[in-house]
Amino acid sequence: MQNRGGESTSVSHKNKCPRCMQCDTKFDFLTRKHHCRRCGKCFCDKCCSQKVALRRMCFVDPVRQCAECALVSHREAEFYDKQLKLLLSGATFLVTFGNSEKPDTMVCRLSSNQRYLLLDGDSRHEVEVTRIAAVQMLTEGFPPGGGNARATGMTLQYTAPGAEGVTQLKLTAGEDANGSRRQATAWLVAMHKAAKLLYESRDQ
Ligand SMILES: [Zn+2]
Ligand SMILES: [Zn+2]
Repeated sequence: MQNRGGESTSVSHKNKCPRCMQCDTKFDFLTRKHHCRRCGKCFCDKCCSQKVALRRMCFVDPVRQCAECALVSHREAEFYDKQLKLLLSGATFLVTFGNSEKPDTMVCRLSSNQRYLLLDGDSRHEVEVTRIAAVQMLTEGFPPGGGNARATGMTLQYTAPGAEGVTQLKLTAGEDANGSRRQATAWLVAMHKAAKLLYESRDQ
């Protein structure tokens, strides 16, 4: 058993992950090792007990995930249920491309395959979602004593195929009809959340 010569290789091979990466409990016959289906790290049963749907990887049924990943997946699931519908149905904005002086009234929506941002007006544009480098919310009104500023627009920076450098796109919620204004504000908030999820999944 105490084979010093072969120890280092067999230990590193067999016990690559001897303890739970969350609570440090040692694995044995009773405390079994589980892998989080999202990050792939090993955890004990307690630390990897949540079963959450993971749509990104085409798992239909909920799969075992560690606490940290479960939180992200829950947020994603909520996003898919609520925000995605909004993004797909679209909203009307005043759209300014780059340094253009005159904004165009356009309907912005996410394509049904979720890969493109489609802008429809007198002209048509599409922006590939993965090419969006930065998203910034434009707000107005900072109520004294706190509270949320109201979203009025958004700037998107993206790299257009064939174009040099970064292209900027500005969306402003129109001031006219109240109903469409509300829709536009909700769309902006959903788009902002979508961008955050996009960056989180890039970081992994
Ligand atoms: Zn995990
Ligand atoms: Zn644990």
